[in-house]
Amino acid sequence: MPEAEAGGILTIDLAALAANWRLLRDRARGAECAAVVKADAYGIGIEAAVPALFAAGCRTFFVAHLQEATRARAVCQDATIYVLNGLLVGTAPAYATHGLRPVLGSREEIEEWAAFCRAAGRRLPAAVHADTGMNRLGLRAEEAAALAAEGALPDFEPALLMSHLVSADEPDHPVTARQIAAFLALRERFPGVPASLCNSSGIFLRLQPHLDLVRPGYALYGGNPMPGADNPMRPVVHLAGRIIQLRWAADGETVGYNAHWTAQGRRRIATISVGYADGYLRAASATNLKAGGEAVVAGVRCPFAGRVSMDLITIDVSGVPEDSIARGDLVTLIGDGIGIDEVGARCGTIGYEVLTSLGRRYARRYVGS
Ligand SMILES: *Cc1c(COP(=O)(O)O)cnc(C)c1O
Repeated sequence: MPEAEAGGILTIDLAALAANWRLLRDRARGAECAAVVKADAYGIGIEAAVPALFAAGCRTFFVAHLQEATRARAVCQDATIYVLNGLLVGTAPAYATHGLRPVLGSREEIEEWAAFCRAAGRRLPAAVHADTGMNRLGLRAEEAAALAAEGALPDFEPALLMSHLVSADEPDHPVTARQIAAFLALRERFPGVPASLCNSSGIFLRLQPHLDLVRPGYALYGGNPMPGADNPMRPVVHLAGRIIQLRWAADGETVGYNAHWTAQGRRRIATISVGYADGYLRAASATNLKAGGEAVVAGVRCPFAGRVSMDLITIDVSGVPEDSIARGDLVTLIGDGIGIDEVGARCGTIGYEVLTSLGRRYARRYVGS
């Protein structure tokens, strides 16, 4: 789409993505640094992210769905690709065809994969997911231990033993030390199998449970792995919205749906051609009592005024000199000091949701490849 026709322009910096991967690799020292590229690489585009990360040196990727794995495979023949959500009934042949690895998280999945391997006469690789506290996916620790004891794994190649941290972003949460201890104990029962526990935040824990492989996602895309501390990651995503109208609201007039914001004094309003249908969450709406989103307009931070609509956002640009903005100009919604963590907080959510909501109507521009 030509930029002149776009209501919003999303710029994705693949050099920053690669730099973030290298920073995480160095942080994790001897461990292999993989990359989590589920949910279309957290919204930035799996077809662009996977080759950029592979070129930086990443060799192992994690997605959530089989379909995401085949998309990653189509752009990267040589990577190791794991599917976190595991084996859906009857899909083992698709894994084998594309050289993909399921993350097996239950007895049933393990039996189905083992049966497929027996029938195929090949010990195909898969990961084994052991739960250490999430109670979402994964074998219970005692189930995993029993499995190892009864030698139930020889039909396939257990290529990775993994678990997932519950509260890695809260460094002092006691559950983390319990999970690490449980996982280290379990790891003893799977000699020779590489082990993996850390997501982005886990890499930065004081206890450094990096083990053999780390699995960052969010931090690769510029999210802060250490909430509350300075963000060591480079921003990857920049979002600009286009001003399609500038107008004045008189003192006492309201702006937007349901009249939730009232002009106090004469206010200048810029209407931007981006809305919640573009994934800019409606929770960023502003009332006079509750601040919402903000944008950088001609170098000035400006607050949203009223509700975020499906296709439009209204911004109070009274703080910007009148002749320094015009119809057609771009304002920054993400970037120029507004990070994805801040946008998430302003929407009452987390930056992960901001990224994975990024819409499909923007002109997308990839730089730094
Ligand atoms: C999403 C996910 C990750 C990556 O987590 P981030 O917090 O984005 O770094 C790692 N492991 C598993 C199992 C996941 O589901």
